[in-house]
Amino acid sequence: MGQYEVVIGLEVHVELKTKTKIFCGCPTEFGGEPNTHVCPICLGLPGVLPVLNKKVLEFATKAGLALNCKIAEFSKFDRKNYFYPDLPKAYQISQYDLPIAEQGYLDINVNGQTKRIGITRLHMEEDAGKLVHQGLTISSSNSSLVDYNRTGVPLIEIVSEPDLRSAEEAKAYLEMLKAIMEYIDVSDVKMEQGSLRCDANVSIRPMGSKEFGTKTEVKNLNSFRSVQRAIEYEIARQIDIVEEGGKIIQETRTWDENKGITLSLRSKEEAHDYRYFPDPDLTPLVISREWVEELKAGLPELPAFKKERLIKEHGLPEYDAGVITSSRALAEFYDKTVSLHPDYKAVSNWIMVELLKLLNAENLEITDSKITPQGLAKMLKMIEKGTISGKIAKQVFEEMFNTGKDPEVIVKEKGLVQISDEGQISTIVDQVIANNPKSVQDFKAGKEKAIGFLVGQVMKETRGQANPGVVNKLLKEKLTKL
Ligand code: ADP
Ligand code: ZN
Ligand code: MG
Repeated sequence: MGQYEVVIGLEVHVELKTKTKIFCGCPTEFGGEPNTHVCPICLGLPGVLPVLNKKVLEFATKAGLALNCKIAEFSKFDRKNYFYPDLPKAYQISQYDLPIAEQGYLDINVNGQTKRIGITRLHMEEDAGKLVHQGLTISSSNSSLVDYNRTGVPLIEIVSEPDLRSAEEAKAYLEMLKAIMEYIDVSDVKMEQGSLRCDANVSIRPMGSKEFGTKTEVKNLNSFRSVQRAIEYEIARQIDIVEEGGKIIQETRTWDENKGITLSLRSKEEAHDYRYFPDPDLTPLVISREWVEELKAGLPELPAFKKERLIKEHGLPEYDAGVITSSRALAEFYDKTVSLHPDYKAVSNWIMVELLKLLNAENLEITDSKITPQGLAKMLKMIEKGTISGKIAKQVFEEMFNTGKDPEVIVKEKGLVQISDEGQISTIVDQVIANNPKSVQDFKAGKEKAIGFLVGQVMKETRGQANPGVVNKLLKEKLTKL
């Protein structure tokens, strides 16, 4: 492995979340009864004319800007010709030689190192329909049904330079791309629903070599995990071939998730096979600088900037800032909470440790969370005021997570208010001292640690409600007087 350098370039398709399709007024909504979101235009019936949805151009331009691309003042649509049953016109409207955006980049962070990955181009195109194979597996299937609901749903394709050097970098790139698309609000970016799809181009070359090796393109990667696994598999497969004196064939391969292997699909098609030509039904696009500037000015703070700000201005550790800004919803949750309770580290810790733990355990997204920023801020204020201890807060937090109840209500209902009354604690401390002569002796003999056990006993007696500061203070006072 060490003798080879890995080269990866990703082609990512992002479904845009416009209300209607790219060239007609049909809804883009996911699902629905088969062939109910269709009309003569997206079905490609004779005599119809496509009209570009302006929102698609706006979203694609925003995406290009967010990826630091040059936006083309003149751009056009082309027909990519091929036959497949999910493509009713037998051509896909795409952009070929004059895409809307080119020459951009995005920065990824792997193992604390920042690396810039080039974006070759970004273009607009229409999605195809879906074939639904009947039967248990594709090979045992004897018929297929076709659903054209997805036909004409707008996509942008984002092609990276071959700048990625490991499966890990590819994953980081995809995660960053996903976060950016989510921040600028142009897509749902749900890999499992197909609104974010990725093809990986992989090759290897001897370490130090300047020329690229022959690449294979792996398709059908529908989760972050499969992207990483498929690339790792493909690297190992290619190294094996080269080590055995063989040659890599340029081809398209598919990822078999169950078997964990890639399989040859077809030898690589060439652009001329598609006979691209300008679509005569659509006028070229001429975009004004002012409009582009307007869109640029309207972009939100992007994840990389937000991350830097959380590190520099809020003092968060790099890792935490990265996790919090990796999803727009999580970043908004954080922002809202600190606007109500500006203790950055505490808010970040509760999100990083408790909230993400509970969400992961239930396989939920932050948007499904019953805990609100208001609720978390209120709970943190209760800890600050000493109404509840940090330990009890975990219990309260879990209850908030499960029921969505207000922390004050939970504390009242369950009688969890912290006991800070010295008189009350003093009685319990006396009991604990009387019941644990061995520990008392140890402490007297200089074993400072013994006090920890005694504090624990007091906390146990009070079901975690005693104020640990007061317990410590009283224990020390009483022990030294003994
Ligand atoms: P094709 O003509 O086969 O579609 P492109 O040059 O358009 O190839 O590149 C498609 C994708 O493959 C891009 O993301 C590019 O960065 C990547 N790529 C190109 N050459 C290589 C290579 N030798 N190894 C890995 N990835 C590559
Ligand atoms: Zn339609
Ligand atoms: Mg290509």
